[in-house]
Amino acid sequence: MKDFIPFHRPSIGEEEKNEVLKVLSSGWLTTGPVCQRLEREFAAYVGCKHALAVNSATSALQLALDAIALQPGEEVLVPTYTFTASGEVVTYFGARPVLCDSVPGGFNIDPEDVRRKITDRTRAIMPVHIAGEACKLEPLHRIAKEHGLHVIEDAAHALPASYRGRRIGTTSELTAFSFYATKTITTGEGGMLTTDDDAYAERASIMRLHGISGDAWKRYAKEGSWYYEVVDAGYKLNFPDLLAALGVAQLAKCDRLWRRRLEIANAYKERLGGIEELEMPSGCDDFNQHSWHLFILRIRSELLEIDRNEFIRELKQLGVGTSVHFIPLHLHPFYRKRYGYRTGDFPNAENAYSRCISLPIFPELTDSEVDRVIEAVEKIVCAHRKRVLALAS
Ligand SMILES: *Cc1c(COP(=O)(O)O)cnc(C)c1O
Repeated sequence: MKDFIPFHRPSIGEEEKNEVLKVLSSGWLTTGPVCQRLEREFAAYVGCKHALAVNSATSALQLALDAIALQPGEEVLVPTYTFTASGEVVTYFGARPVLCDSVPGGFNIDPEDVRRKITDRTRAIMPVHIAGEACKLEPLHRIAKEHGLHVIEDAAHALPASYRGRRIGTTSELTAFSFYATKTITTGEGGMLTTDDDAYAERASIMRLHGISGDAWKRYAKEGSWYYEVVDAGYKLNFPDLLAALGVAQLAKCDRLWRRRLEIANAYKERLGGIEELEMPSGCDDFNQHSWHLFILRIRSELLEIDRNEFIRELKQLGVGTSVHFIPLHLHPFYRKRYGYRTGDFPNAENAYSRCISLPIFPELTDSEVDRVIEAVEKIVCAHRKRVLALAS
């Protein structure tokens, strides 16, 4: 289709191309000085002590669970309303992701359900800031403290977001960010682990590159040495300079990209918010900054003749690409088979899932494309609104 509006298009400009070309000419492609620069700038941006670049957010979560020394048989509380990476990493350690429901009427993990799911095997809680809306961290931290649990944030959607005036990335002991192709800043693939804890940072830095101590990446550099020591069976999760170059250019634009997404979110809310058949995502205030990675609309199915799937089909016919975030983990075959979860186990998450549509929200979306998305949604609602017959009593 000629004028199809895609769900996402990354914001890649001359700056990104120039940074990548510099690395290509430098003679050093893998982890090196550009990666270190990205880590410094990222740490300064979110205001944390340590930022460790890795090849994905999944890897950052893996290193976070390694840092707390998660053991086989232990449990980590993970929302069912998330991408599978959040749960999958727990299984790497022979541990169990124990799923929790969303808050009533929302997407993020419900602290009440977290409390109910704690056992004597629970080691950590993994809040996920769905769409870029910060979880209510205060009750989660209180529960964690009461039970001696770690809090590891999956902040794949949450750059730049904040909770009560504090940037996400500084709000818990360990936080994972994603630079995947569709995320708020991207390097194609990539991620960042942040922490203020020196010991966690030291451990993660060793484990991300084969369990080799010291600045392992320097062993082929001019100032490096051929000698190294392997102190543990590590992983291969390091981040190449070739991609870090993209990250440096993207991070410099992070605020500008965010402002444009905010404009789009405000336009959607202003012009669709008055339609009874639609439910807007809850916004945030000055102290709780929403990253607007996603704009998740929910339809009020009881007021419409069509369901979410049909709504998405019609949007596509009108030239609007959308997506669904997320199919709750407990509905997937793996989580059903391995842990015995069933439909009905997490009513709040299932309710949100059955009604949600992620609209395009990326900085390159033009004003006229935003208009077209809004008009398409309005048109579908008007065509399928349930006519309530006033029955004379
Ligand atoms: C994208 C995503 C991840 C994984 O990020 P990668 O960088 O692709 O590993 C993890 N959690 C959530 C909620 C995500 O959306």
